[in-house]
Amino acid sequence: MRIGALRSLLPLAAALCVAPLTHAQDADYSHYVSPWKTHWDYSGPRGPQHWSALDPDYVLCNTGKQQSPIDIRGAQKAALPALRFEYRGEPLRYLINNGATIRINYHDAAGSGNDLLLGEERFQLLQLHFHRPSEELVHGKRYDMVLHLMHQASDGHVLGVAVLLRNGGANATLQQLWDHMPKTEGQVGLEGVSFDPAGLLPRELGYYRYQGSQTAPPCSEGVTWIVLKMPVEVSAAQIAAFAQLFPHDVRPPQPLNARIVEESE
Ligand SMILES: [Zn+2]
Repeated sequence: MRIGALRSLLPLAAALCVAPLTHAQDADYSHYVSPWKTHWDYSGPRGPQHWSALDPDYVLCNTGKQQSPIDIRGAQKAALPALRFEYRGEPLRYLINNGATIRINYHDAAGSGNDLLLGEERFQLLQLHFHRPSEELVHGKRYDMVLHLMHQASDGHVLGVAVLLRNGGANATLQQLWDHMPKTEGQVGLEGVSFDPAGLLPRELGYYRYQGSQTAPPCSEGVTWIVLKMPVEVSAAQIAAFAQLFPHDVRPPQPLNARIVEESE
């Protein structure tokens, strides 16, 4: 019953993910298919100012009032629930370059994947990907990169975790991916890579929280964003390797409008 209910939610999951998972969630994911039917870009005539005009499915991008990313400032301290990451290592089967970023899709059955507990609510990791520099600003400051870990609860609630990455020591977990980074749009099959996303998390889990959206078309809203305060170090060489493929895969900060940003105590 629960599995059946979850299956019926998968199209919803597809609609809400940063890049829709319509194809990636199919049983056969051995072949790469672009998640977007209409091409968009981070600059020029298909850039962020024009996303809504490119496709009716992208209309929220320039009309939504709860869009992401934002510049985090004026946060209000609040008694927010603790985060508990129940991540684990598992073999990676493939790594994607979707033309906008490097990305991992997860296909775990409910209850067998990488979970995140926020208070009583349980979320499962659906995909992770990177931006350079960070899309989020904190008090006007941008970081060298950001990791986005996109989760979903069984009721469809989407939760993104942003891990700010800054120039420092090399990260061994990141290097496992970078060693196999597809240089052009498509995917590469992997063998013998056991990957644990917990290796990309900071030591301390204080965070900012606000309601926002996917930061790429279709810019779907209803996404709870958790931005971890403590950054994680990656090396200059690791940043440069990503920048060679994606020098600027970043949407500009969006108006906060009536939203409130909360900060864990
Ligand atoms: Zn992202």
